[in-house]
Amino acid sequence: MRVLVISDLHANLIALEAVLKDAKPYEAVWCLGDLVGYGPNPNECVEVVRNLPQLKCLVGNHDKAVLGEIPIHTFNSDAHASISWTQSVMTEASLVYLRYLPERDSFGEYTLVHGSPRLPVWEYILDRFIAQENFPFITTPYCLVGHTHMPVIYKEVYPDGPCHEEPADYEHPRRLNNAHLIINPGSVGQPRDSNPDASYALLDTETNIWQYRRVSYDVMATQSRMRTAELPERLIARLAYGW
Ligand code: ZN
Repeated sequence: MRVLVISDLHANLIALEAVLKDAKPYEAVWCLGDLVGYGPNPNECVEVVRNLPQLKCLVGNHDKAVLGEIPIHTFNSDAHASISWTQSVMTEASLVYLRYLPERDSFGEYTLVHGSPRLPVWEYILDRFIAQENFPFITTPYCLVGHTHMPVIYKEVYPDGPCHEEPADYEHPRRLNNAHLIINPGSVGQPRDSNPDASYALLDTETNIWQYRRVSYDVMATQSRMRTAELPERLIARLAYGW
């Protein structure tokens, strides 16, 4: 099965549409959470995602904040402002959809979470030391995570660590066989690796071959929608730089 793996859409509909077009053909979609927050089109993103084929979709921390399930003061002031704005525009149908998303899912050899297998909604796997601590919490060979917006693969080398960190390779597909891996596809809607292009991955679940992909989208169009919505200027500016 050819699976499109996406994460951290953050209400950036234009980036999401670019990814869905660029990734074709795919038979299934796995979305690792944070459909909303930061960006200007939360309802539209929820509507597009919920209609994707053979969808597995997780809840992220921003989704939970918009639902009121996470105290908003735990976010920085820009994120806080974007969550408040999102709450003011969300339809009841969008909220109901987010409310019933799971924190964890799996498919064959793959575990899916937003943050980490240890703390599925909250924890950021920001380095190989945090990754290493998380391997004991994974019962499948592979675990897909989002949340940090950084495309990266962590590979367990010895059970007592340390693990390897592999930067995303866009040129060569990565065969996943015979390893314990934590894999992040990067962010569709707000990349943070100094590359403004939307990040995603394609996965063949029969051959376990993972392919990182980037696609450019009309960043200025998303920025102009954010300005119309009076979202924080810092959140608008960062999209052009990928930070
Ligand atoms: Zn996010």
